[in-house]
Amino acid sequence: MTEKPEAHIGNANNMNSLAPYAANPEQTLGRQFQEPASETRNAFQRDRDRIIHSTAFRRLEYKTQVFVNHEGDLFRTRLTHSLEVAQLARGIARTLNLHEDLTEAIALAHDLGHTPFGHAGQDALNECMRDFGGFEHNLQSLRVVEKLEQRYAEFDGLNLTFEVREGILKHCAIKNAKLLGVVGQRFLDKTSPSLEAQLTNYADEIAYNNHDIDDGLRSGLITIEQLSKVELFANNLAIVKEKYPKLEQKRLIPETVRRMINTLVVDLCTYSAQNITQHQPNNIADIRQLPQLIGFSKEIADQNQKLKQFLRKNLYHHYKVNRMSAKAARIVRELFKGFFENTGLLPDEFQAYAETDKARAVADYIAGMTDRFAIREHRKLFTVEEYL
Ligand code: MG
Repeated sequence: MTEKPEAHIGNANNMNSLAPYAANPEQTLGRQFQEPASETRNAFQRDRDRIIHSTAFRRLEYKTQVFVNHEGDLFRTRLTHSLEVAQLARGIARTLNLHEDLTEAIALAHDLGHTPFGHAGQDALNECMRDFGGFEHNLQSLRVVEKLEQRYAEFDGLNLTFEVREGILKHCAIKNAKLLGVVGQRFLDKTSPSLEAQLTNYADEIAYNNHDIDDGLRSGLITIEQLSKVELFANNLAIVKEKYPKLEQKRLIPETVRRMINTLVVDLCTYSAQNITQHQPNNIADIRQLPQLIGFSKEIADQNQKLKQFLRKNLYHHYKVNRMSAKAARIVRELFKGFFENTGLLPDEFQAYAETDKARAVADYIAGMTDRFAIREHRKLFTVEEYL
């Protein structure tokens, strides 16, 4: 099979053309608090910059998804994951003439609300918060940018545009949507978010499925033999093996993974472009009323689904990952119980907050922790030999 390095779908060479139905920073639905415009940046660029300078963004470096942070330096963290999502999202946005800066801002912010220890941590915290409104990482990302970051004189949060906040909130339970005002409205109305928000969601999925394969193989928890039964992997592995029959495994894996990513991205761009052409939206208001137009073709959606099933069964529920998850959940549960039963153990600012809403203050404190900070806090709270 020959590759065509110079052939582009869409708009790879032209950074300046924007489709009429793209989000436009000059027509943003605005910020919660009015501010003068930046002299040098459009509203979405400014949002992206605010996200990069936030405390929560820096913490992503020490938060993990599948592998706990101290397990090795080679695995993805939430920071490198978010950068990969931003990279994919920008590429897709440019191909489809959508607003790159908006997708980048959404991508960099989408995981800000994650607890330490990935999904194990979030499930444990949600369980602890069952009687107090629950805990959703997606909602928490919004809470970080609307409330928890405290670095501006005139408002809490980062005061981001509606379009970025809409993109961060990719799913939301109806009972929570009712509490969120304008940004939750689309879950009640069953309307669609911007195409930029839709595609960033797919970029997230493409990024984590593929980097989990890469991390999973390198950690030895899954094998090439197992993955050879998964069509999307097998097809691309066959292409690499045919072209480079003697390639060593170290190169074989990334050569295969990058082709998988390419298969998914090309399909997403091609199929979404067809969808857009078919529905003929004139502006972003039309986009909001139409069904979601970004998506995979049926064939690739099926292949992608099988890949996710494979990862769930063989990687996310590998007994070694289960052991890590069980330990992580125990740490989160014990931290919650310890702080909830004695708010005098919380740092001063959270003690004051706990006086108005004890459970939420404890949840916010724990959710903000990195993996290693949570482990250290747990040790400080429960180990006699550990002081301070
Ligand atoms: Mg993500």
